[in-house]
Amino acid sequence: MTGNLEKYVVVKPSSIHGKGVFTIVDIPAGSEILIITGEVISEEECIKREEKGNVYIFWNEDSYIDTTNTEKIKYINHNCDFNCDVLDGDGKNLRLVAYKNIFAGEELTIDYGYEEIYRHCRCSICA
Ligand SMILES: [Zn+2]
Repeated sequence: MTGNLEKYVVVKPSSIHGKGVFTIVDIPAGSEILIITGEVISEEECIKREEKGNVYIFWNEDSYIDTTNTEKIKYINHNCDFNCDVLDGDGKNLRLVAYKNIFAGEELTIDYGYEEIYRHCRCSICA
C-alpha cells in the first residue's frame, strides 16, 4: 500500500501513555503513513516552546513543526523499539514513515530522541 494512510490511523487510549496513535490496517515497512503538518517554526522558537512544556513539536534536520493544532499525529508516543520514523518533507512539513512492518491494531511509535525520555521510559527495552 502506498500513499497517505492517515484515514486508517486512529487516536485511542494507549498503554504507553495517555492517548496514542493506532493503525487499523497493515502497513508495510517504508510506507508513507501521513504528512506531519502544523506551524513551521525556527530551532530557536522550538527550544523556547519546549521549555514552556510544549511536547508537540516534531523535527528532523532543519525542519521544526509545532503540531499543537494538528489532529492525530501529536498523540504519537515514544518507544525505544519504535516502528515509525520522522523524515523530511518539503520543508514546510515532515513525513511519518513506517520503519518496520506494522500490523492492524498496533500502536504507532517513534523515537522522541531526547535524553529525558529515556530516563522515564518504561518500554520493554528500558524496563
Ligand atoms: Zn525505552
